[in-house]
Amino acid sequence: MINYTERIALLMDDICRRTPRLSFINLREVLVFGRHGRADAEGAFATCHCLTLPESEPGYYFWRDRATGELTRRSEWFVTKSPEVRIGSSRIKYLISFVLPRFCGQTLERSRKAELYPPGAPAWLAKLDTVVHELYHIDPDAEGIRKLIRADGSDSPRSHGPEFYVEVAEMVNAYLATSPDPALLEFLQHDFDTLQRRFDGVVATTFKNFPSFPQRYMQPMELPPVEPAIRIEPMKPPSQPLLYTEDDLHMRQFTEQAARRLTRKGAHRAA
Ligand SMILES: [Zn+2]
Repeated sequence: MINYTERIALLMDDICRRTPRLSFINLREVLVFGRHGRADAEGAFATCHCLTLPESEPGYYFWRDRATGELTRRSEWFVTKSPEVRIGSSRIKYLISFVLPRFCGQTLERSRKAELYPPGAPAWLAKLDTVVHELYHIDPDAEGIRKLIRADGSDSPRSHGPEFYVEVAEMVNAYLATSPDPALLEFLQHDFDTLQRRFDGVVATTFKNFPSFPQRYMQPMELPPVEPAIRIEPMKPPSQPLLYTEDDLHMRQFTEQAARRLTRKGAHRAA
């Protein structure tokens, strides 16, 4: 089977080596994982998720009486934080997710990127463009996502001005001009069905709590109540891990319909 996220990580390594504007990226601090999304459904192809956003200012929710507008109750104080992800000795600063099989079907023809590439450019360049695009979101100052910040640390389509797309296309063309090893790019040239047939399956790294993954969470904190007379609703404790390690990674096989965990069948192993 083809390990799609591993292929992307190997390609990213080569891209960062050959692209001066991305050479500051330490890929040991970047983890690539798969999310499931049907090819025929609307949605993102990939997302860059930042884990280095600072803890938020303390806040709380409150409820008002509809008729009188009076405060009736409020939540505990909380701060919003990023979970920690550690793989071996590396602390992960960015997660980059690819939506499978949707990403595999991306082509230039149906994309606004088409005008940034010469006529007749191969359709699969749209996928290489997306890989570079997500890397370009990594901020050289490691303080979040370049050119935008969404409160949950993820990428937003509203975050890019037109120059972002132009700069990404420049990097794609410059990378291709360095004559990278075609073997590193080959997997991008096939759609999902072709990969499935050729490799007898497509697998990707996912998190154990799939379809979830490390996301910002709210942590209750002790602070004096603002209006002591009002009832305080306790917060639900975080339902997701606060620390993820390599033990929280599962390999899953992706199909058009689902992503199933891979389990080793049978006890026979060539000893
Ligand atoms: Zn983006």
